[in-house]
Amino acid sequence: MQKILLKSSKRSELIEITAQVQKIVSSSKIKNGICTVFCPHTTAGIVINENADPDVRADILKALEGLVPQNADYSHAEGNSDAHIKSVLVGNSKTLIVSDGKLELGSWCGIFFVEFDGPRQRTILVQLVE
Ligand code: ZN
Repeated sequence: MQKILLKSSKRSELIEITAQVQKIVSSSKIKNGICTVFCPHTTAGIVINENADPDVRADILKALEGLVPQNADYSHAEGNSDAHIKSVLVGNSKTLIVSDGKLELGSWCGIFFVEFDGPRQRTILVQLVE
């Protein structure tokens, strides 16, 4: 298992981690298998989506904010229930195919860590299986 450490700088943002995940894959002996990317936090998640037009990232966050507003009639005393709910909606892990030492991703696909309650120091776990 390997770790990716990062620091978010906004309350909500998508941070691309494709290069860091590929670097872990490239430095592994495993050339063909699966790669799990897991975020062990309850107010963040992992998504795979377009990495070409940054407006897509902005629209994803805008739509999630519309679905789950930051301020509503929540019970959780910490005051970040929206971030917990958004984390549940996007999920906190992805499984990718590794083929010939490379992640199989579509042309416009990137792997993103999604922050919903930043800024914070975050850790992402990556496990390869042959
Ligand atoms: Zn909380």
